[in-house]
Amino acid sequence: MVEHFTHYQYLRVAPTAEYYAIKRAYQQRILETHPDKHSQRTAHTSALPDANEPFAEPHADLFNKVRLAWHILQSTDRRKAYDAYLKDLEARTHGIIHDEVGLDEMDYDSDAEEYLYPCRCGGDYMLSRQDLALGADVAQCTTCSLRVVVEYQVELDDP
Ligand SMILES: [Zn+2]
Repeated sequence: MVEHFTHYQYLRVAPTAEYYAIKRAYQQRILETHPDKHSQRTAHTSALPDANEPFAEPHADLFNKVRLAWHILQSTDRRKAYDAYLKDLEARTHGIIHDEVGLDEMDYDSDAEEYLYPCRCGGDYMLSRQDLALGADVAQCTTCSLRVVVEYQVELDDP
């Protein structure tokens, strides 16, 4: 099973956290995950014990995901849309993430503006371009309850 973290988890805030709490958390996390700080930080790992830290990821990725999380959650509209996406994912309670695919491995349907990848059930995993713009990275099968994590490079302008 593949691990998946939400924007809230990357910032270590509750999904119900208020704007200022999220902003504070972001400012903290951006310092913690900044690639320049990494070597300094590992020397003092004991100061930052956290079993939930997705350390398996390369550090620059983590830094970018923290930035993306803030980019989405700082905007009321984007946050609302992202929450709706998460709710939708949760609604399929038996959905399990069983694999990961690269976005470049998926087929893009330009009419529907959807990224598709064949599921073993015969259906397709689907991630819409709209969801992608919210930093969504889980595609669910439109036929069965399986999901895949979609890997792609996050590119943001100024933090
Ligand atoms: Zn399926």
